[in-house]
Amino acid sequence: MSLREMLGKQPKSVTSHVGGRFVGAEGTPIEVVDPAQEAVIALLHEADGDEVDAAVAAARSAFDTGPWRGASITERQRVLMAIHDRIMDHAAELAELETINTGIPLTQTQGMHVPRAAHNFRFFAETINQLGGEAFTQERDVLSLVTHEPVGVCALIGPWNMPLGLTAMKIAGALAFGNTCVVKPSELTPLTVARLVELVADLLPDGVLNLVNGRGQVTGAALVSHPGIDMASFTGGTETGRAILTALAKGIKRPAMELGGKSASIVFSDADLDYALDGTLLGSFMNNGQMCLAGSRIFVQRPVADAFIERFAARTRNLKVGDPLQRGTEIGPMINRAQSERMLRYAETGAGEGARLLAGGAPYPGGNRGFFAQPTAMLAPDNGLAICQEEIFGPFATLQVFDEEEEVIAKANDSDFGLVGYVWTEAMERGLRVSSALRTGTVLVNTPIVRDLRTGFGGYKMSGLGREGAKGSRAMFTEEKATIIARGKRTFPAMGVSG
Ligand code: NAD
Repeated sequence: MSLREMLGKQPKSVTSHVGGRFVGAEGTPIEVVDPAQEAVIALLHEADGDEVDAAVAAARSAFDTGPWRGASITERQRVLMAIHDRIMDHAAELAELETINTGIPLTQTQGMHVPRAAHNFRFFAETINQLGGEAFTQERDVLSLVTHEPVGVCALIGPWNMPLGLTAMKIAGALAFGNTCVVKPSELTPLTVARLVELVADLLPDGVLNLVNGRGQVTGAALVSHPGIDMASFTGGTETGRAILTALAKGIKRPAMELGGKSASIVFSDADLDYALDGTLLGSFMNNGQMCLAGSRIFVQRPVADAFIERFAARTRNLKVGDPLQRGTEIGPMINRAQSERMLRYAETGAGEGARLLAGGAPYPGGNRGFFAQPTAMLAPDNGLAICQEEIFGPFATLQVFDEEEEVIAKANDSDFGLVGYVWTEAMERGLRVSSALRTGTVLVNTPIVRDLRTGFGGYKMSGLGREGAKGSRAMFTEEKATIIARGKRTFPAMGVSG
């Protein structure tokens, strides 16, 4: 029997993991659904305020009195590498589970998401040995040292669009720098993170890695407003980010926010057009288009626009939609019905605002189960349209025509978001010039997604606060401490000597 059939027959029970033990199976569970089959595949136990309390207390106690915070770098590296190996040993199972739960094609979960989840642990194992502190000796009589200490108990909240990979990045960073954590995955896609916790539980001291599950408004809200946490690292939508920031503000807790995007992908007429076509298609439609860094707001320079747009539309119509477990499937289902209906409403809104439908814009005709929608492309007359300004989070691309470099930079920057910019040109000077003009945290020149963990990833404007990556993660997960040491007896004004 396949894993999908097994889960369909007997949905997995997912509970919290607190202080080294799986706890809590009471109460009415939340049904977790396979978006391709609309079948219930898991029953999620929702952690209430008391269970969140217990998880934070376990993490607090493990941080304050446990061995992890003071463990040597060698010991932390050993554990991080063991977690890497555990993930790779179970890579096939994790990829299949991720695909069943999210609808993301298996080729992508197998080829990218799971290896990347594992790589995060290897990367941070190497990084903690390489990032040093600082010493200043400019003042003759003092030596100033800057060191980094673990921040404490980290609340790590993940989204549904790449649950294992993105949450693993947070867990690996938090653990590498000596913290303890409480993880809350999305209630829509809790399965792989729960399995990860199960797989690595024996590798960590009790209380270092805790898991709570449930809806954002219930479990998530209880976690981020808990006085016992020291920071929260969140990846998700901008509106949720705002609510979490408000909760954190009460306790002056540190936020790290990876939020939404509406990234521009600029195709200049001097680009290698076949290559740019492949790159913009992948940048728009990978991960079923449900990507924060989707480069799905495409601008094409007028001399090549007609030909490029026609070919983009034909390739969009040609994308293979279907069962995400099948090899060859390029687009799986949306995460739920609300999301697929929302995406199709944008096609109507766009048409109402004067955009021309080039491809898709309708439910997927094949099969009568699953939250499928046709990959969609629209030609937009103006960047102010809702379809060019709002994050749609599905296989939906907009195309616009431009004439001048200055004009397209202004249009690309005309967005509340600032996560990523893509530039396609054979003129490297132009690539660098446009890169420095784009108000985004990352610019990719002549390539779709490349994630180099040595660089920080994060957003300008409403796309977030802080960066994830080597130094960015250290800034997120450590407190910086200055220690000023007198090199000998210093001369300073003596007070209270006379009168
Ligand atoms: P979401 O904001 O709906 O939910 C994210 C997580 O927050 C879930 O675990 C949810 O349960 C929790 N949550 C919801 N309300 C909460 C509250 N009040 N308090 C605490 N937690 C709460 O996001 P999503 O729909 O799961 O993910 C899609 C969004 O994530 C998109 O906007 C996408 O752009 C963004 N995203 C950003 C990045 C990035 O790196 N910038 C990466 C991936 C996804």
